Amino acid sequence: MKNIIIFGPPGSGKGTQAELLVKNKGLSHISTGDIFRKNIKGSTKLGVLASSYIENGQLVPDNVTSDMLSNEIESISDSKGFIFDGYPRTINQAEFFESLLLKKNMKLSMVLSLDVNEEILLKRLLNRGLTSGRDDDRNENIILNRIRVYNNQTSVLKKYYIDKLGDNFHSINGEHGIQSIFKSIDHIINNS
Ligand code: ADP
Repeated sequence: MKNIIIFGPPGSGKGTQAELLVKNKGLSHISTGDIFRKNIKGSTKLGVLASSYIENGQLVPDNVTSDMLSNEIESISDSKGFIFDGYPRTINQAEFFESLLLKKNMKLSMVLSLDVNEEILLKRLLNRGLTSGRDDDRNENIILNRIRVYNNQTSVLKKYYIDKLGDNFHSINGEHGIQSIFKSIDHIINNS
C-alpha cells in the first residue's frame, strides 16, 4: 500500500498530479478542498460552516477538517493506497494525521512537494478562475490571502516532513509542464 501526500501552495498543481496518479497507479484520491466543495454544493451543515472560511481564503478549523478526513479514509475500503491532496495544512493536522495513520496501521510512504514561485501561482489561479467556477480563484485578494496562509501556516510542514521522512521527502519543480512533472513523479514512485 502506498500512501502519498502531494504538497504545495495553492495553484502548484496538486490536484492535477493527483488525478494522474489515480489514473496511472490506481490510488484513491482524497482532496479536502474537493470534499468541502461537494458539501458546499449540497448545502450540508459542514458545507455551510466551511464556506465562510473558504470564501475568504482562510483555513477551515483543524478539528473540522481532521474529523472529515478521518471519516473519508474510513469510507474507502480495499484501497491500493491514498493520495492526500490539501491535507495536512498545519502542524496540528500533521500531528493528528500521524496518530490516525498509526491507529489504522497505515504508513506514510512519501511526500511529493511541488515548488512554484508566487508570481506563477497568482497567474495560474486567476486563469483557473475563468473556468473553475470557484469564487476563491476569481478574486486577487483572496488568492493572495491563500498564498499568505500557505506561507504562514503550511510551508513549515516541509521541514516537519524532511525531519520525519528524510529521503522520502521529494521536492519537485512544479513550473514544468504537466506531463513532464508527472514523469518525474512516476520515476520517484517506481524507484521507491
Ligand atoms: P488550493 O490548494 O488551490 O487552495 P484546495 O481545493 O486544496 O485548493 O483548498 C481550497 C480551500 O479549502 C482552502 O483555501 C481552505 O479554505 C480549504 N481547505 C482545504 N484543505 C484544507 C485543510 N487541510 N485545512 C483547512 N482548510 C482546508
